[in-house]
Amino acid sequence: MKFAILSRNAKLYSTQRLAEAARERGHVVRVLDPLRCYMSIAPGRFQMRYKGKELAGIDAVVPRIGASVSFYGTAVLRQFELMGAYSPNPSDAILRARDKLRCHQMLAGEGLGLPLTVFGDNPDDTTDLMGMLGKPPHVIKLNEGTQGNGVILAETTSASRGVIEAFRGLYANFLVQEFVAEAKGADLRCFVVGDRVVAAMRRQAGEGEFRSNLHRGGSASPVELTEAEIDTALRAARVMGLGVAGVDLLRSNSGPLVLEVNSSPGLEGIEAASGVDVAGAIVEFTAGGVLRPSRTPRRR
Ligand code: ADP
Repeated sequence: MKFAILSRNAKLYSTQRLAEAARERGHVVRVLDPLRCYMSIAPGRFQMRYKGKELAGIDAVVPRIGASVSFYGTAVLRQFELMGAYSPNPSDAILRARDKLRCHQMLAGEGLGLPLTVFGDNPDDTTDLMGMLGKPPHVIKLNEGTQGNGVILAETTSASRGVIEAFRGLYANFLVQEFVAEAKGADLRCFVVGDRVVAAMRRQAGEGEFRSNLHRGGSASPVELTEAEIDTALRAARVMGLGVAGVDLLRSNSGPLVLEVNSSPGLEGIEAASGVDVAGAIVEFTAGGVLRPSRTPRRR
């Protein structure tokens, strides 16, 4: 099959591993920078070009679209979809997952556990909004932040109010959550591919930090998931419509709570911690999707 990996940087670990895993399985692979793909749109005719040449006949696209290029990257992916290529993560699902508030609403709508979350626009409502959440500590998050950026722990009511007012002043969208103290600075990254959690790791925040993101100095170790955790991760990915997802869970007194569903989860930490060939699982699932009869036929 002809595979395209949409990635800004061919040298990234995840991109290299996916390309290698696809080649090992006999596929032809190209790494394409989404920002160098350009397209023409006409009724029933969708064209894509790359650095002066036509791109055609691509069977599968594995998107690795960073948050900074969500808009253009998903437009490129959508064009590939219209040209009949299969993507394990559809463009619409990636856009949905990027919006934390929307993601939380969709997950809660399906009855999945998540930290109690509040959201409001008007400064006059801040006191009541904080009252809905209960006593601090509160966690305040930028709606489109990633890798722990814009995730702040406010330990007192005045700190919480101060951060909320500062974000409002910057016209930033944010949500406020209860702090799940019993997670003790650890979360679980469950790597979902299709209908399986193929790998998992426990991430522990470093000294003096509550965010367990590996980019923030968190450390990773292998973990055995419970049935409830596996079920939650699979349901969360399904609700978001993602075939490949990094679902982050907190272990709480009331069971697993979903923090985030990531549509371009990194491979380096999870492959190192779990020893699983996650890239291979993604490639195999994607190739299976190309062959699935229920798929819309190619429209090139
Ligand atoms: P990002 O998308 O930027 O990674 P997250 O919502 O996943 O943002 O938060 C980053 C980290 O902060 C999480 O991995 C977790 O360790 C910690 N964290 C986030 N929300 C909470 C919460 N409500 N209670 C306790 N810890 C949290």
